[in-house]
Amino acid sequence: MDCFLVEPDQIHGDLLVLRGDEYRHLSRVLRKRVGDHVFVTDGKGTMYEVIIRSFSRSEAECGVAEKYERWNEPRVEVTLAVSLLRNPSRFDMVIEKATELGVTTIIPLLCERTIPKHEKHARLQKIAVSALKQCGRSILPHIFVLTRFETLVRSAERFPLRLIAHEQTEQSQFLGSVLQHHKDDRSVLLIVGPEGGLTTGEMALASEQGFVPVSLGPRRLRSETAAISGISWIVGAS
Ligand code: SAH
Repeated sequence: MDCFLVEPDQIHGDLLVLRGDEYRHLSRVLRKRVGDHVFVTDGKGTMYEVIIRSFSRSEAECGVAEKYERWNEPRVEVTLAVSLLRNPSRFDMVIEKATELGVTTIIPLLCERTIPKHEKHARLQKIAVSALKQCGRSILPHIFVLTRFETLVRSAERFPLRLIAHEQTEQSQFLGSVLQHHKDDRSVLLIVGPEGGLTTGEMALASEQGFVPVSLGPRRLRSETAAISGISWIVGAS
C-alpha cells in the first residue's frame, strides 16, 4: 500500500489537498479517480484514509474518512546513531532500512575512524521520505546533521537505554539479553561504528556515559548489517 505524504498546511480539518509530485503520482502514475480511497500521512504520526473528491489541473481535493494515530509505528522509539560509511550507497541503504524498520531518529556519526567527513542531508531525507511512503508508516524519521561521536555520547542522558554495538564479545552482553531486562524502556539509543570499528577511547567514553556495549553475535558484521540487526532486535515485531 503506497501512501502519500503531505505538509500540515495541506490539511484543513476534514479536507486535505494533494499537490506537486504527490498530485502527479496520484493522478498520472496511479491514475486514481474521484471516489477512490487512498492513505495520506503527515509524517508526524497521523495516517488519514481519504476519499478523492475532485481534481483540478494541479491539485486533488480529498475528504478525510478515517484518521489513525501512530499508524504502523513500533511501541518503542529507536534512535540510530551510525557512522557515515565509505560507500555512500551503503549509508543510503541504512537510511532506507532504518526507516522501514521503524526508527524515529537517525544521527549520522563522525567517529575517529569514519572515512567520509560529510554527507548530503537533502539526499538522505529524500531516501527516508520514499521509504516512509513505501512501507506505510506515519512518522518520518528525523535525520540529524552530521554529529561528532563525543558530542552525542556526552549528551545522551535523555535516553533511558543507551546501547553501543561492539563486536568484541568479551566486553559486550548479547543484545537480546540486555533487552530482556529493559522491557519498559520506551526510548532506546543504539550506536553503530564505522568499518574500522570504534576505538578503545570511544568505548571507554561511552561506558563512562552509561552506554551498554552489546553484541549482535560472534560474527563480524558490516556496519549496515549491524544497524539493521540491532534495530530489528530492539523493535521486535512491534
Ligand atoms: N572492528 C572490526 C570491524 C567493525 S564492524 C574489524 O576488526 O574489522 C563495524 C561496526 O559494526 C562496529 O563498530 C560495531 O558497531 C558493529 N558490529 C559489527 N559486528 C558486530 C557484532 N558481532 N556485535 C556487535 N556490533 C557489531
